[in-house]
Amino acid sequence: MAAKIIDGKAIAAEIREELGRELAELKAQGIEPGIATLLVGDDFGAKMYRGAVEKFCAEMGFGYREETHSSDLTEADVIKIVESLNADPKVSGILPLRPFPAHISDSAVINSISVDKDIDCFHPYNMGKLALGEPTFPPATPSACIELMERYLKAEGIDVKDGFEGAEICVVGHSNIVGKPVSFLALNRNATVTTSHVFTSMKGNLEKHTTTADYVIVAAGFPNLINAAQVKEGAVVIDVGINRVIVCPECSTYNRSKKDPCKNCSTDLAEAETKTVGDVNYDEVAAKAKAITPVPGGVGSVTNMMLAKNTLRAARLLAGA
Ligand code: NAD
Repeated sequence: MAAKIIDGKAIAAEIREELGRELAELKAQGIEPGIATLLVGDDFGAKMYRGAVEKFCAEMGFGYREETHSSDLTEADVIKIVESLNADPKVSGILPLRPFPAHISDSAVINSISVDKDIDCFHPYNMGKLALGEPTFPPATPSACIELMERYLKAEGIDVKDGFEGAEICVVGHSNIVGKPVSFLALNRNATVTTSHVFTSMKGNLEKHTTTADYVIVAAGFPNLINAAQVKEGAVVIDVGINRVIVCPECSTYNRSKKDPCKNCSTDLAEAETKTVGDVNYDEVAAKAKAITPVPGGVGSVTNMMLAKNTLRAARLLAGA
């Protein structure tokens, strides 16, 4: 039986409506949520993300403050900017856009952000609260995974609490941004969590863990890492991966660059199609799983809404509402 597609776009639209009502209530009380981005240097990915946050703020009806600076700023200069963002009543949430230039310590900047404005849960205090099971700002991407799972359970008529308790959840990836926090969020819901990673694979043990899981959450940044053989029949698969790949027109193999010939059949890739895929071999796994999130249109679609949710929470905190 083909898997149910967990439609991130539709779920994001639902959440957006819910948040729209909450935002109207806040605005009626004179509370205006706003986000500030902090970008130092000219990293391409960070610049892209900054533009996306500005657009997102306009779409959501949030205020936006841009702090974009050249890489000749000192660490002390950057911390002064963070302090001014901490003090700005129009800024409810601060997003540091990394990587920072090498002479600016990530942790020095993160540690200077007010814990009440740390809307993507970077500060060690907020990560600690997450580990203790009482997060103020559950980080956006891991929360998006849990939100998709919860809404899937509800749609199936399964009690959400019961759906998580004792469920076997295998997380693939152990980064501070996705793998570890999503493991904590699942553990906080009393699931039995296995966190696997590249060293699990290197010891040949990945499949042992993924094939016994009721839910597999994959955040590795590795296209086709999870195939049908790596999941059990009837599993629910959440694909966090976002990979840009070049698809060989001859053999459909995913490649990383148009400059080199196809790694499988040596076809020239100059005119080949570029595509965004996840970490899961979607077609194969969808034929075996009970439910699956697509890429694009899955976790990524809901991530922004989780950030918006945290922004509203931060605005309430700031206003003491
Ligand atoms: P990362 O590079 O920091 O971490 C990757 C993790 O995957 C590591 O824990 C590593 O041990 C593990 N891994 C790598 N190869 C593996 C293998 N062969 N077997 C098992 N584990 C392996 O990446 P990240 O920041 O956690 O992001 C992971 C993926 O999620 C990326 O594709 C990224 O683009 C995507 N992502 C998506 C969103 C979203 O909103 N949808 C947000 C953040 C990241």
